[in-house]
Amino acid sequence: MQITNKIVSETSASLGFDLIGFSSFVQLEKETAHLKKWLQNGYNAGMRYMERNFEKRKDVRLILPEAKSIISLGMNYYTGHQYLNDENSGKVSRYAWGKDYHLIIWEKLDQLILKLKEIDPSFEAKTYVDTGPVMDKAWAVRSGIGWLGKHSNVINRKMGSWFFIATVITNYEFAVSHKVADLCGSCTACIDACPTNAIVKDFVVDANKCISYLTIENKGEIDKTLYGKFDNWIFGCDICQEVCPWNKKFSAETEEKEFHPKEGNKEIDLESVENMSEESFKQKFAESPILRTKLKGLKRNAEFLLKKKNESSS
Ligand code: SF4
Ligand code: SF4
Repeated sequence: MQITNKIVSETSASLGFDLIGFSSFVQLEKETAHLKKWLQNGYNAGMRYMERNFEKRKDVRLILPEAKSIISLGMNYYTGHQYLNDENSGKVSRYAWGKDYHLIIWEKLDQLILKLKEIDPSFEAKTYVDTGPVMDKAWAVRSGIGWLGKHSNVINRKMGSWFFIATVITNYEFAVSHKVADLCGSCTACIDACPTNAIVKDFVVDANKCISYLTIENKGEIDKTLYGKFDNWIFGCDICQEVCPWNKKFSAETEEKEFHPKEGNKEIDLESVENMSEESFKQKFAESPILRTKLKGLKRNAEFLLKKKNESSS
């Protein structure tokens, strides 16, 4: 039996995906040209892996030689919980409050592919969630899931930007979805609100200045010139998404309970991090994206925030 767009849409919705769009295979010339410029400017900071597999990013047929269509999926992670804004605690980015999204989405993608293969055993796919040499955002935009906001996250007009993106490269030819218009218009709220001026121009984020990079992927120290500018973020930063009018207006609660905050993972007591052992770190953040920064990184972040706090109270 032939797999249709309708079958994929219904199956993915039954698995909990909120958004879906289809695009045709093309070489991502324009998008990789932007990536190249971004890399040349050094905006990837210490993320050297962004420099690797450039050709695969451009041409997904180097990943799946029979690639014909790309399916982009979105999964809402907005839970509606808000921060207490206790100055003794560091804020964690919304996406990392619950169970690691990779674990949740990988499982759903496996189920999706299994179901589609049951319908047509000749169906082939390679799946990605924010890992591997695939330009998820570029495909999401091409698939009409949303437009690229000036903060460089994809925005859906009915959901805002609090969603994860998964990409499925397939050997199937699906009907293509319509791309959507860029609805940022003259708004510059994200650029204006970024406390470190990391959005250097529309759609371009310099990771060297971005709190999200500096508190997660960054392996080094945090530049002292940024003291007092972190707004108490200990893991990630959501400011540019929080101020976006599309999120203010359209965020709705996810149905995925696993994205709800685990106790103590929404805001983390700074002094408790300073004294945390490796064992308790692994236990407290088991299956959480917070593991990514490792205890060393979390301690560095806590120390950075505490220094600022101590300086302002002395
Ligand atoms: S995540 Fe934070 S630091 Fe990074 S661009 Fe957005 S507002 Fe700026
Ligand atoms: S805050 Fe404004 S400019 Fe920034 S992504 Fe949202 S709509 Fe676009």
